[in-house]
Amino acid sequence: MRDADLKALTGLCAKCGTCRTVCTLYPERKAEIAVARGKIALIDAAMSGEDNDADAVQEALTDCLLCGRCERACPNQVLVEEIVMKGRADLAEEVGIPAWKRVLFGKVMTSPAATGIARKAAAAGQRLLPGKIPTASGLHYRFPDGLGGEGRTVPKLPAKGFLESLGKGEAATGEVMLFVGCVFDHVFPEVGRASYETVKASGRSVAVFRDAACCGLPAMVSGDRRSATECAEANVRRLRAAEPGAIVFPCGSCLLMFKRNVFSLIPKGDPLYDDAVFVANHAVDYASFLLSSGVLDRLPEPSPVEKVGEIGYHDPCHLSGTLGKGPEAREVLSRAVGPAFAEMAGADLCCAYGGTFNMRDYSTSARIGENKVTAAVRGGTKVISTACSGCALQMRDMAARTDPSVRVVHIAELVHQALFRK
Ligand code: SF4
Ligand code: SF4
Ligand code: SF4
Repeated sequence: MRDADLKALTGLCAKCGTCRTVCTLYPERKAEIAVARGKIALIDAAMSGEDNDADAVQEALTDCLLCGRCERACPNQVLVEEIVMKGRADLAEEVGIPAWKRVLFGKVMTSPAATGIARKAAAAGQRLLPGKIPTASGLHYRFPDGLGGEGRTVPKLPAKGFLESLGKGEAATGEVMLFVGCVFDHVFPEVGRASYETVKASGRSVAVFRDAACCGLPAMVSGDRRSATECAEANVRRLRAAEPGAIVFPCGSCLLMFKRNVFSLIPKGDPLYDDAVFVANHAVDYASFLLSSGVLDRLPEPSPVEKVGEIGYHDPCHLSGTLGKGPEAREVLSRAVGPAFAEMAGADLCCAYGGTFNMRDYSTSARIGENKVTAAVRGGTKVISTACSGCALQMRDMAARTDPSVRVVHIAELVHQALFRK
């Protein structure tokens, strides 16, 4: 590893150890290498040639949830997420990435058509899975232990994605652009639909972003810089050309990609840089858009059937932590469901999905996630709402494992229910 940018970033670390006190993984690993300080020391050793074991550095950098808790607590503003992602990309060039990731990121997620085909194939395949668990959020299939790890469940995939369900010419042009993201299109199309209907209720014309490649975040966090750049460039070009007045993101991770991460793929000096700035300046989280649009003023009084304090909110690390958008989601919930919303126990704890971390080390991811759901349920929460696709996947799996009566929803579904209540 001999990356000058990386050296400048790691050089800011004062080795104070504050990051260890907040790291989501440290209580599990109890090892310095799990925390930012340890990873930075390892990178520095590799860059100086003192200890150049690329496999060991790759292992250490892969063992991170990218939750950003260390970065937010760091007194020196060390950009830990940037360091981890940059380090992963450098090492991917040196030692490569697994073939399945190369195909998934390079061939499937860069192509909207291929993503749709992959969903259909997966939906057909999952009918063969033996275990079925009915949950408050819908049916889940249980993976055989050897194939997906220790009781993993996956939501039943829909026959049709959200974009496919739109009529010909429906939501083709409009002053507001809705970027639903691949999970809310292909896995939870009801979230894509609820987001669309509630944004449309603002009275402004809404276009749904079609031909969308994945935002590129999964490729980026896996060190596949080429596929991530391909996704980012294609999306930035198309979003800029549409000239929207606002680009609304129901998924906090997609939003982070366009607000922040995109600039390490399309940096200053890149021909697309100004377009990326345009997109970042127009990108807005779902809750902030609703609050500014006036649509919440038209909500009827919250339904009396909802029990006081039974709806909680899980803070997505990227959305509430990195982008600071926790208060907006809470304001939307308070107005949509009234006293049924209450602060959830452990709301700001990471759910430990961590993108590909969940596939790499499912048992650790599940242990942390189960603790989170268990604490919420003990505190009286029966419905966990959130605003990020990765969190929604993880919390539904964790609810299926621990308490299938817990419902996991996106805040847009609760707003939709309140707005269109008969
Ligand atoms: S908190 Fe920041 S400065 Fe302190 S050891 Fe961690 S990364 Fe380095
Ligand atoms: S990003 Fe999260 S898991 Fe990774 S080192 Fe920082 S606190 Fe730990
Ligand atoms: S962050 Fe996740 S849901 Fe959003 S586009 Fe990227 S992969 Fe899809």
